[in-house]
Amino acid sequence: MKIYNTMTKKKEEFVPLQEGKLTMYVCGPTVYDFIHIGNARPMIVFDTFRRYMEYKGYDVNYVSNFTDVDDKIIKKAIEEGTTAEVISQRYIEECKKDMEGMNVMPATTHPLATQEIDGMIQMIQTLIDKGYAYDADGTVYFRTRKFEEYGKLSKKNIDDLEAGHRNIKVAGEESKEDPLDFVLWKPKKEGEPAWSAPWSEGRPGWHIECSVMSKKYLGDEIDIHAGGEDLVFPHHENEIAQSEAANGVPFAKYWMHNAFLNIDGTKMSKSLGNFFTVRDISQKYDLQVLRFFMLSAHYRSPLNFSADLMEAAKNGLERIVTAGEKIRGIMSNGAEGAMADEEQQLLKDAQAYVTKFESAMEDDCNTANAISAVFEYVKYTNSKLNEGSTKDFATKLYEILEKLCNVLGVILEKEAIVVGDEEYIEEMIAKRAQAKKDRDFALADSIRDELAAKGIVLKDTREGTKWSRS
Ligand code: AMP
Ligand code: ZN
Repeated sequence: MKIYNTMTKKKEEFVPLQEGKLTMYVCGPTVYDFIHIGNARPMIVFDTFRRYMEYKGYDVNYVSNFTDVDDKIIKKAIEEGTTAEVISQRYIEECKKDMEGMNVMPATTHPLATQEIDGMIQMIQTLIDKGYAYDADGTVYFRTRKFEEYGKLSKKNIDDLEAGHRNIKVAGEESKEDPLDFVLWKPKKEGEPAWSAPWSEGRPGWHIECSVMSKKYLGDEIDIHAGGEDLVFPHHENEIAQSEAANGVPFAKYWMHNAFLNIDGTKMSKSLGNFFTVRDISQKYDLQVLRFFMLSAHYRSPLNFSADLMEAAKNGLERIVTAGEKIRGIMSNGAEGAMADEEQQLLKDAQAYVTKFESAMEDDCNTANAISAVFEYVKYTNSKLNEGSTKDFATKLYEILEKLCNVLGVILEKEAIVVGDEEYIEEMIAKRAQAKKDRDFALADSIRDELAAKGIVLKDTREGTKWSRS
C-alpha cells in the first residue's frame, strides 16, 4: 500500500515497524464546545484508513487524545462559572455522541491530557537532563536550536523562523533564551487548573501531551502520526523535536495530514465564525451523509462544504442503501438451491469491483475512487439480480457489498429502533413540532421521513402527534 508521507513529500510503500501490526496516533480535538465539521474530517478519514488496514488483516492500535486542558476550556469555564473539568467532560461526551452518529469507531485508547501529567513531568525532566530544555522562573522551554533537525517535517529553515520571530516580543516570555524556544510547562495563573511539578505549580504546554501519550500507549517509535494539515507546524514539528530528543529514536515513520474542509473557499474554523457543528448537520441529515460527503473527496484535497454536495452525498448513499435492500429482498424471497453455473461465473466477475476498490484504497487511501468502485458494483448487482436469482447468489453478492461498505463505514441496514428508544422518538417529535412552529416545513418533513425510514410512523391528532411502529 502506498501512503503519502508529509516528511518525505512522496507516496511511499507502507512497511510497518512490526509485521501485521499498525500503531497510529491521531491528534484529537480540544474539547471546549461541540466539534465542527472541519474537526470531523480527520476523524472520518483516518477512521476509514484504520478500517481498511483492519480489513487487510492488520492488528491496529489506534490512539486519539482529547485535549482537556487549554486556554479556551479555561475561558469557557470562567464564562459559565464552573470548572474546566465540567466543560471538558461535557464536550467529550458530546463529541463521542457525534462520533457514534458518524460511525467513527472508538479509538483503542482515548487518553486525556489531564490524566497523563506524571508522564509529561517525566519527559520534561528528561529533556532538561539532556540539555534540551531549561527552567526560567517556573516556565520550562524547549531549546529549539539544540535539536538540529528542527524544521524537517514542515521544511522550514530555522534561520528564516528566527528572523520572523526577532521583532515579536511576547509579554511574559522575556525569560526565553531564544525567541524560537517553545513552552513545555507554564506556571498557573489565578483560577487555572494546576499540578505540582519541580519547576512550578502549573500546567503543560499543548505539544508535550501528544509526545507523552503516543509514547505511553504506542511506544517510542510508531508507524503513523496523523492530523489536519494545520498541525504540521508548529504542533507536529515540536512533537518530533520533543520525542526524538527525549527518546533518541525516530518518532513516527509516516506522517499523514488531511487537507481542510472549507466553506466558500475559506478554512472552516471557530475563530472565523464560518462553521457548522456536527450537531447542526444532524438536525437536517443522518450523519452517515456527512461521512459519505467527506469520503467523496481524497483526504489530501481541499473540500468545499455546500448544500449541493451534501444533497449529492445523500443521493449517492441512498443508491447504495437501496441496492442493499433489494439484495436482501432476494436473500429472503429468491430461489432455493445451489447457485446456477451462470451465477457462479457472475460471482467471479464481481471480484473485479473488489479489486478496483482495493486498488483505490491502496493508492494513498483514495476513498473517492473507492466509492466509484462501490457505485459500479451496485450497478452490477442491480443488473444481475432478478426474481429468479438464487438466495445463495444474492447472499454472496451482499457479503461483498457489506465488506466494502464496512471499510467506508457505511451502514447498510440501520438497526430498527427498539424498545427503549421511546425517549429518542419523543425528542424527534418535539423537534418536529418546533420546526413546524418556526415554519421550517422542510425540517419537519425530514424528521418525519427519518423516523419513517426507521419504521416509525407519525400521526398528527388533536391531542398531539402519536407514533406507532410500521
Ligand atoms: P483542534 O480542536 O482545532 O485542535 O482540531 C482538531 C483536529 O481537527 C485537528 O487535526 C485539526 O487539524 C482538524 N481541523 C480543524 N479544522 C479543520 C478544517 N477546517 N478542516 C479539516 N480539518 C480541520
Ligand atoms: Zn497532537
